[in-house]
Amino acid sequence: MSRVAELGCAVCRRLGHEGTPAELHHPRAGTGAGRRASHMDVIPLCPAHHRGALSGIHGVGTKAWPKLMGFTEQDLLDDTLKLLGVAKEQH
Ligand SMILES: [Zn+2]
Repeated sequence: MSRVAELGCAVCRRLGHEGTPAELHHPRAGTGAGRRASHMDVIPLCPAHHRGALSGIHGVGTKAWPKLMGFTEQDLLDDTLKLLGVAKEQH
């Protein structure tokens, strides 16, 4: 899991700033009921994009946030898994 945090904030990365110190976000809420839970389902987010009132997923809310940012938690999770070299089908 620490490898995920070491990637830096996934949102900042998309905005062109790689390596922003990040904490781990667990995108459980909002995923499909049939989706398999995995310890790999974590996204690195910096405090501003995690908890910030203006741009944080928990500050803005998980429904409004994707509209604000232009991408979803799933997009960021896909980015993260690609960077880690983990295919979605693997354990
Ligand atoms: Zn960020």
